[in-house]
Amino acid sequence: MTKPILLSTPHMSGKEQEYVKEAFDTNWIAPVGSHIDAFEQEFCQAINASHGVAVSSGTAALHLALRLIGVQTGDEVFCSTLTFIASASPITYLGAKPVFIDSDRHSWNMNPDLLEEALQQRAKIGKLPKAAILVHLYGQSADIEPILKACNRYEIPLIEDAAESLGATYKGRATGTFGRMGIFSFNGNKIITTSGGGMLVSEDSSLVSKARFLATQARDSAPYYQHSEIGYNYRLSNVLAGIGRGQLLVLEERVAARRRNFEFYQQALGHLPGIEFMPEADFGRATRWLTCLTIDSTAFGVDRDRVRLALAKRQVEARPVWKPLHLQPVFDECECIRGDVAKSLFEDGLCLPSGSNLTIKELEKVVSVIRNI
Ligand SMILES: *Cc1c(COP(=O)(O)O)cnc(C)c1O
Repeated sequence: MTKPILLSTPHMSGKEQEYVKEAFDTNWIAPVGSHIDAFEQEFCQAINASHGVAVSSGTAALHLALRLIGVQTGDEVFCSTLTFIASASPITYLGAKPVFIDSDRHSWNMNPDLLEEALQQRAKIGKLPKAAILVHLYGQSADIEPILKACNRYEIPLIEDAAESLGATYKGRATGTFGRMGIFSFNGNKIITTSGGGMLVSEDSSLVSKARFLATQARDSAPYYQHSEIGYNYRLSNVLAGIGRGQLLVLEERVAARRRNFEFYQQALGHLPGIEFMPEADFGRATRWLTCLTIDSTAFGVDRDRVRLALAKRQVEARPVWKPLHLQPVFDECECIRGDVAKSLFEDGLCLPSGSNLTIKELEKVVSVIRNI
C-alpha cells in the first residue's frame, strides 16, 4: 500500500529525544521543571519577545489572554472571521460574544479598513468591543500597523493569534509581538510541535506572571492550598517543553522547507488557468505554513471539490480553506462585518500537503494528480 501524503505532520529534528531523556533521567515528568523555563526563554529569544509562559495549548493561551483583559459575560470581542474555531471559542468560554471581521484579498487576513469603520461606528453608539483578536493565517502576517493604530485610537487591546505564524515577520519583526499579548500553538500540525502546547507572550511582565498564576490553579503564595480566584490547569508538561526546545533549534529550517514547498507548487501549477496562489503581502515574510491556492472553476474546468476528491482518491490529503466562523452553525447568531471575501476564499480555496518533511517525489505526485485533472 502506498503511504498517504498528509497535509502537515510532525517533523522531529532528532534533538528532542536528548531533552526528553534528560527529563526522564532527572524525573521531572511534571508541569514544572527546567525545560519549561528554558523553553520559555529560548522561545522569547527566537521571536524577540520580552516575556512568555508555556501552556498546554494555543486555545488555553488565548483563553488566558482574554481573561487577563477582563472579558466577561455580555462583552463583545472582534475577531477575524477566516480562521480556525479556536480563535473564537475562548471568547464564548467567558460568556462574551464574537463579532467577526472579513478578510482582504491581499493578505487573506483581517481587513484594516473594515475594522476601522466598525470601531468608528461602535464608538458613536457607545458599544465598543472589549478586545480584538487578530489572526495571522496560514503563516502570513496580517497588516498589523493600521489595525494596531485603529485599536489604539479606541483603546481596544489587541491580541494576536499567531498560532499559525511562528517564524513569520511583519516589517522585520515577529508576528505575535505587536499586540498587548500574542499566542502561539505547538499542536501536531503546526510548524513546530510539542505534540500539544502553546505559549502566551507579552511586553508586560505582570500580564505574563498573572497568566502563569491562572494557569496553575490560581494558587496564592501560602504554605497550604489557598485560592482567592478561580484558575485553570493549563501548564505545559516538562517533557513536552523538552520536545519544544529540540524543535525550536530547527525553526528556521522548517520555515525554509515550507517556503520551498510553496515555490515548487507555484512553479508547477501557477501558470494553469484559474489557479491562483495565496499572495505574499509585501509587508512581511510568510512562512507558507500551508500552501493555499484558489481554483476558479470556470477557468480551470473543474471546481475545488473535484480537485480535492481526485487527490483523496490517490491518498493525498488536501483540505478546503477554513470555513469562516460567521458561516459556522454555532455562530449563526453572531454579527459579521461583511464576510464575502472570506466566503469566496472558503468556496474556492484549497490547502495542499505542506509538511516540512515532504519529499520531492511526494510533491511531484501532488502536482501530477492536479495536472492530470
Ligand atoms: C491551531 C490554532 C489554534 C489553537 O491552537 P491549539 O494549540 O490547537 O489549541 C488557534 N488559532 C489558530 C488560528 C490555529 O490554527
